[in-house]
Amino acid sequence: MSQATRLGQAVAFTQMTTLYRFVGPAHLLERGASLISEVRAPQDLEATIEQLGPGPLTFVITAAGQLRLGPRESEHVQIAGGSPVQTAGEISFTTTSGVTVESITNQSTGYCPEPGSISALHAIAKQLKVAIPDSFTTEVMFRRCPTCEATNIVKDDWFVCAECSAELPPTWNFS
Ligand SMILES: [Zn+2]
Repeated sequence: MSQATRLGQAVAFTQMTTLYRFVGPAHLLERGASLISEVRAPQDLEATIEQLGPGPLTFVITAAGQLRLGPRESEHVQIAGGSPVQTAGEISFTTTSGVTVESITNQSTGYCPEPGSISALHAIAKQLKVAIPDSFTTEVMFRRCPTCEATNIVKDDWFVCAECSAELPPTWNFS
């Protein structure tokens, strides 16, 4: 299990980092790259918000630990260039007194990252000089139906497939 990009599983390539491969519909991979912004420094973040607005914006953290932002209508897999990510979701900012995160979720049906993947953002918060909440302000719990393979979002601890009513497993199962 040496290659982080190996298909078919989320692979830990260090003790701390899990990569999520794209698990969404294949036709999305054929779309061209979306308008994206690579955010490496605080001024990049300010420029992106000026260009795209405060959000919600689509974001990914690449395998290399870099934040990429795009307009909400863009797909995570477009922003990620089809590659695995450390996490993905939607983020909104406020700019009334400096840049702060208003809300952040792991809502990405293309990658289905786990709530704990917010640690990928904590790792770059200092570099971008922006405070990241301890956890996603809205945590999304993804499960793949073992019977029909539909991607489900579990709400209110209701572990039942919306497509076929099969029982969903208690733990994340896209690997
Ligand atoms: Zn099902």
